[in-house]
Amino acid sequence: MLLGFLVPSAILLTCVMKSRTTSPLASAAACLVFLSACLFLVPGALAAELHAGFAQVDITPPIGAIITGPMGPRSTSTDDPLKARAMVVASGGKKLVIVGVDLVKIRRDLSDKAIELVMQQTDITRDGILICPSHNHSGPLIPADGDNAKANKEYIDTLPRLISDSIVLASKALQPVRMSVGRSIVLEGHINRRLVSKSDGLVLNTWLKKVNDLKEVPQVLGTESVIDPELWLVRFDSPEGKMLGTLMNFTCHPCLHDRIKTHTWSADYPGVIADTLAKEFGPQAVGVFMQGASGNIQPPVCWAPDWKERAAVFANAAVEAAKTAVPVENPVVDFIRRDVDVPRCNAETQRPQAISRLGWRPESFEGAKKTAASMPRLLNVPVSAARIGPFAIATNAGELFVEWGISVKKRSPFPHTVLSELTNHWVGYEPTELAFKHEGYETLAGVNFVSLEGIQSLVDTAVEMLNELWKKDAK
Ligand SMILES: [Zn+2]
Repeated sequence: MLLGFLVPSAILLTCVMKSRTTSPLASAAACLVFLSACLFLVPGALAAELHAGFAQVDITPPIGAIITGPMGPRSTSTDDPLKARAMVVASGGKKLVIVGVDLVKIRRDLSDKAIELVMQQTDITRDGILICPSHNHSGPLIPADGDNAKANKEYIDTLPRLISDSIVLASKALQPVRMSVGRSIVLEGHINRRLVSKSDGLVLNTWLKKVNDLKEVPQVLGTESVIDPELWLVRFDSPEGKMLGTLMNFTCHPCLHDRIKTHTWSADYPGVIADTLAKEFGPQAVGVFMQGASGNIQPPVCWAPDWKERAAVFANAAVEAAKTAVPVENPVVDFIRRDVDVPRCNAETQRPQAISRLGWRPESFEGAKKTAASMPRLLNVPVSAARIGPFAIATNAGELFVEWGISVKKRSPFPHTVLSELTNHWVGYEPTELAFKHEGYETLAGVNFVSLEGIQSLVDTAVEMLNELWKKDAK
């Protein structure tokens, strides 16, 4: 912006000084140069100013559609609506889109279709669009290709259009904004859900019955790993100070809502956070949520009757982060996407005891194991890195373990980095090397598809792209 005025002003000063010594014709010509400089340079400077637009579209499935999860009941009503909440942020000719959807996952064919629809209606490019499911467990079943593919088909076919509508509306709402970055540390309401059993040194998931059986599990050696306490909130305000929307990131499975008993649609805790922000900062404020690397992180109690009070802990942390957010001047907007081929897991070599030691019949995972074994040897997986000033986003298409997410934060050159999982595709759980050794639910073939080597490569690609973005403009 400053450059847009300084350069033409310097030209004007020169032309005024020259007009004292030269002919009126020469000074008229110099003033013409001034006017053209203004025309070319000022719009360029304005394009470098930060703009953002927000919009939300209702994506609640019809009553009677199948709810996600193994029991797959049909919904009976709606507790709170599911939404696609979109943000478009633009500067220097680049437009970045982040759309948070209250879904358990998004398949590649659906995200590709939504992106295509956006490209038909706007000047937004493919690589700048991140579709981020919250991993909501009280939303519709979205079957993987091939497996029960017809379930909820009529509704699922409408998703690309609904998601693209939210992005197009947000794009139409672009306006100059001020950005600030906030964070709260949240140390309650989320746990690492993998316990180490002393008898075999392997992992048992917290929800398994045998965990509380003293004869079967005489000793537990704590949890396998850590939690990630960071709740991030980037706020975008109009020049007058009205909050237009926020971009958030937190690392915990949304499985608080009591859908097992109630069989109702709900957006779970990310919906509660968005509603709380709208109450606090005005109904125009749209809360876009990105799920962190929460493959092994969940609330201590799932399907809780007091789920709203439990969700309020996260919502209050988000309000606090919004109130203490620190302003950022002239943020750069940029992004990169790469689609990487990675080797799939070796489903054939999994030992049968990996299932039976969890207390499950080996046959119960036969179907899932077959699906994993029939997948191509190489899986094509999208990875993105994006930045809004000092705030960087690295994406992963699976349910990434928290340790990987923290490793991305550690390796990133940016002051603030978050990991957005399940973005633009779905490739199952992505455990760590230690977790594969320790076994447990998330490592079973059929819920895990990508090999350890493949997971490492996806994480490394995200970090490489963060470094590329930082090198282009280190501020
Ligand atoms: Zn999950």
